[in-house]
Amino acid sequence: MRNIFEHWDDLKKELSGKYTMLFLDYDGTLTPIVSTPGKAFISQEVKELLIELSRSPKCKLAIISGRALKDIKNKVGLKNIIYVGNHGLEIEGPKIKFASPISPRCRAGLEHIKSDLTQKLYSIKGAILEDKGLSISIHYRLVDKKDIQEFLSIFNEISAPYIVRGKIKVNSGKKVYEIRPPVMWDKGKVVLWLLARQQFLLEKNKILPVYIGDDVTDEDAFRALKKKGLTIFVGEQGNSEAQYYLKTTEEVTEFLRLISDLKRK
Ligand SMILES: [Mg+2]
Repeated sequence: MRNIFEHWDDLKKELSGKYTMLFLDYDGTLTPIVSTPGKAFISQEVKELLIELSRSPKCKLAIISGRALKDIKNKVGLKNIIYVGNHGLEIEGPKIKFASPISPRCRAGLEHIKSDLTQKLYSIKGAILEDKGLSISIHYRLVDKKDIQEFLSIFNEISAPYIVRGKIKVNSGKKVYEIRPPVMWDKGKVVLWLLARQQFLLEKNKILPVYIGDDVTDEDAFRALKKKGLTIFVGEQGNSEAQYYLKTTEEVTEFLRLISDLKRK
């Protein structure tokens, strides 16, 4: 992985010559990771940058999150951009509206797991269950170190039979597990789908997709965009399939400012 600022001079040329489709993850990318998901708010500075980018005729913006669509829309609060919630199970934007069909049976399964987890995790302080409609998240950032083992074994015991029977899929992220329907749909597939839509409107080689994300589910998008665009991992250089990295969310802000300045010219 390469530091994106060190290669800015070369990238600048490519970025200014092409229409940019900017895909941004939310938690850990636009906002620092916080103790509970409800506390992750976007700064005024980032918000203003996003507004500016969304108004540029040379740029299109999509926020791609594991949060429920309604939640991520409220958190960002901008019109005329694309929102992807639940890692792609829900999409909404100008002239786009999509919600992955979830069978009543699958939802019933999620309900069952939810009530099991609620009951059995009751004794574990700090475990937070979040029902996101099409999926369920269990956050354990606030669980005490001494309880982690017990938390994990309860979680595994409850989820394993469903996984084995192909009823659910489980994603793991930063101190969170996500239980979702067993559909083959992820951030990578969504990005390619959105890109194809856009390419239909513009000439193919005139669009440059740029993806910035910090977590395991973003790796699907990094893989999907390999050789197609710029992929940027947020965090210390390490195990990621992205081509570039930015160390912190502050550096993401700095990078967005560079793009915004470039697009204003
Ligand atoms: Mg993230």
